[in-house]
Amino acid sequence: MTRSISILGSTGSIGTQALEVCEKLDINIAAIAANTNVRMLEEQARKFKPSLVAVYDETKAPELKAALKDTDIKVASGMSGLCMAAEYDKCDTVLNSVVGMVGLLPTLTAARAKKNIALANKETLVSGGSLVMREIKRSGAKLYPVDSEHSAIFQCLQGLPDDRALDRLILTASGGPFFGKTKKELENVTIEQALNHPNWSMGKKITIDSATMMNKGLEIIEASWLFGVEQSRIDVVVHRESVIHSMIELSDHAVIAQLGVPDMKIPIQYALTYPERRDCPVERLSLAQIGRLTFYEPDTEAFECMKICREALDRGGLCTAAANGANEEAVGLFLNGRIPFLKIPELVRAAMEAQKNDEPSSADEVLCADAAARELVKSMV
Ligand code: MG
Repeated sequence: MTRSISILGSTGSIGTQALEVCEKLDINIAAIAANTNVRMLEEQARKFKPSLVAVYDETKAPELKAALKDTDIKVASGMSGLCMAAEYDKCDTVLNSVVGMVGLLPTLTAARAKKNIALANKETLVSGGSLVMREIKRSGAKLYPVDSEHSAIFQCLQGLPDDRALDRLILTASGGPFFGKTKKELENVTIEQALNHPNWSMGKKITIDSATMMNKGLEIIEASWLFGVEQSRIDVVVHRESVIHSMIELSDHAVIAQLGVPDMKIPIQYALTYPERRDCPVERLSLAQIGRLTFYEPDTEAFECMKICREALDRGGLCTAAANGANEEAVGLFLNGRIPFLKIPELVRAAMEAQKNDEPSSADEVLCADAAARELVKSMV
């Protein structure tokens, strides 16, 4: 059970919900960090009284310092600020909910400092999974998934006698706003349509990833690292209602599922209270009210990203980092109106295929592969 926490990405969707959960559980907020939103950081700092506040955007540091100058809160900035919060000696747990592979170094730093890591930043494992898992094994740090599917699997795994009992993982996918559309129909979808997710309210990047189903591809990679299961044993089923958050199939073909209302506060809280269970400020699940649960095979022709991620995992090494870097860049370009929707998978595939599958021996090599993938994407637009 978490006593004192450092929250990276405190102003985002996961971060703000985590603060709410921590408040209810009476967990001390030791540090908060965010990308650029100084105004909200100040508000959160005054309310939750952390002793360290960091802003990633260096240019915002003077503004943050000025905003908190009447307090004795320490202010830090840049990647060093994020890492300072990640290894802060006043916290036992680090929630990493920053967006994108910028979360890699803070995760590695928290692992080295032997923190409990509540991981909402899937790009960390997608780009540098082998490094992160090695560091965690070495230091004895603990890793708890916050991503709803991975939290579901983690919950289903509780009480299993050993790894041999586990046959497959079954990730559920909402299908996103474009479920049922053909590739042809995806040609002219707009940014607004892509941002209109049916079940989950999330940040922009993950919402676009959900529309392309790249999110599920990233989650296959994330699950593979977290649970040590190869991609051929990770199935995906489209489940429109987002009530079953994922499942495991055991060696005797019994299937265990975790259900609940689609509210991230449940997985956030479980990562912080594990192995305990506490009251959580979310609605109860009423199956009778929902009436029916539906399931479909995912369409990997129209939504190619999932297939590309499986291929990247099979190739191994830095290929998943390249796919992730290319996707981050491509999503940014799509959100700026620079490329059409279907250009995203095309760019991700090109960068993944251009990457050599060397195993990374350092975070620098991951950052290089990421940068090369982004350059390739820019050169192709
Ligand atoms: Mg998820």
